[in-house]
Amino acid sequence: MEKAKSALNFGSGPSKLPLEVLEDVQKEFVNYRDIGFSITELSHRSEEYTELNQQAQDDLRTLLSVPDNYKILFTQGGGQGLLSAIPLNLIGENGTADYIITGIWSTVAANEAKKYGQINCIHAECDVPSEEKWNLNENASYLFYCDNETIEGKEFHFVPKVENIPIVADMSSSIMMKKIDVSKFGVIFAAAQKNLGTAGLGVVIVREDLLGRALNICPSFLNFTQLSQHNSILNTPPIFSIYLLSKVLKWVKQNGGLETMEQRCKEKSKLLYDTINESGGFYHCLVENTSIRSRINIPFCINGGDAKMEEKFLSEAAKCQIYQLKGHKLVGGIRVSLYNSISYNDVMILTDFMIKFKKENEKVIQHE
Ligand SMILES: *Cc1c(COP(=O)(O)O)cnc(C)c1O
Repeated sequence: MEKAKSALNFGSGPSKLPLEVLEDVQKEFVNYRDIGFSITELSHRSEEYTELNQQAQDDLRTLLSVPDNYKILFTQGGGQGLLSAIPLNLIGENGTADYIITGIWSTVAANEAKKYGQINCIHAECDVPSEEKWNLNENASYLFYCDNETIEGKEFHFVPKVENIPIVADMSSSIMMKKIDVSKFGVIFAAAQKNLGTAGLGVVIVREDLLGRALNICPSFLNFTQLSQHNSILNTPPIFSIYLLSKVLKWVKQNGGLETMEQRCKEKSKLLYDTINESGGFYHCLVENTSIRSRINIPFCINGGDAKMEEKFLSEAAKCQIYQLKGHKLVGGIRVSLYNSISYNDVMILTDFMIKFKKENEKVIQHE
């Protein structure tokens, strides 16, 4: 118990959930709203679940200011399930789509889509604002991009400008952290385990006119049209995950909504980037281009990528109960993820640790 309360978790996903949410869930886990049993034992056709399903959609709609001509759907199969669902639902008769490739997740997305059609891959950085710079295909059914590359720590700080083609954005690691103009998109989707709840659940915001285009081979449970017709209760939904989502949304609302989340996101990432920048090179950002640096996932190396030093950093951090800081195996180094559940104070504890670690270990390097 002692450990759970004070441990800091900077994981990239599954990631930290607000303590208030966990405690609330714990409190009503055995007996949901005095019905005499748990939410996980409740029929998905029950009145209580129908209400929960609607409440979660309404809260998402309010928090993200989703216009009326968009449907909100809950899917199973997490993020990767949706990387398949996107082409299956949208590639249509044209059979072709454009994918902006900025890192590992957009590459995975394009590779999934290639199973269902002709994919035009456009290799770019997250700082290209408009279609003039891209070699777009005029027959493409949609343009896909990943708003925040969780692994490399690269973020689009704007919505790319394209005409006459629906934009599809993977916002798995950036949804609910900044205000977005939903009307600029055809589809926004996210896996829930980064910033919305727990793994397995996908959230989709789809413009109504894009429904009805699914390929015949699209499995029913991933078919946006069918899900929409059944208000996301087509087969048994992941009830517990949607319940947890509803609790997280309530927490976001109670804590100031998107405006506050975005402000916090700016302040937290600034503190960490400043600490890295002021370390005289001891810590070094893996993303050189400052205009594409993510405010959510921040990878850096230590002492020029000194693997031993990075191991030591991780083990010393663990002694201070600071966890899940190891970089993705394809990138290496250290990665800090600053989702909504992470407070400014949490980041201060981390940066204080980083400053202390630097002081102690710079000396070691100089003496050697
Ligand atoms: C985590 C993540 C995914 C994949 O989510 P899974 O639920 O593990 O399949 C996809 N895209 C992005 C941007 C992610 O961060």
